[in-house]
Amino acid sequence: MAEAELLRGQLLYEFRTMQAMVEIYCKAHHPLKPSKGVCQQCSEFLSYANTRLDRCPYGQEKPTCNKCPVHCYKPHMKQKAREIMMFAGPRMLLPHPIMAIKHLLAERKPAPGLPPEKVSNRHLRKAEQG
Ligand code: SF4
Ligand SMILES: [Zn+2]
Repeated sequence: MAEAELLRGQLLYEFRTMQAMVEIYCKAHHPLKPSKGVCQQCSEFLSYANTRLDRCPYGQEKPTCNKCPVHCYKPHMKQKAREIMMFAGPRMLLPHPIMAIKHLLAERKPAPGLPPEKVSNRHLRKAEQG
């Protein structure tokens, strides 16, 4: 996915984790998808999640979305994210043990305060480009 190239560091890692979870979810729920990758609907969800990560006002210090006081996802996308996490979270340990453990640890961190200004990945990219 080309958009993933815009992300880096923790945000890119989080996107890869989300991608792994969506693949597990899609394989079980949308078996008529093309043989490689995920179905159109899940691909659109990933693209949306990628944009949210790029624009996340916490930047690299992003908390887990579950505990975020901003809640930038649209309600139906938030619902889809919740479904995916609930289904794929417990199934991550065998295929992706390190991602699964990091995800669990992130979920245990306390909720943050409001975000600082202009630290999103998008802001930093713009600043780098001058
Ligand atoms: S829900 Fe919060 S932590 Fe998650 S991407 Fe949106 S602003 Fe960032
Ligand atoms: Zn799917």
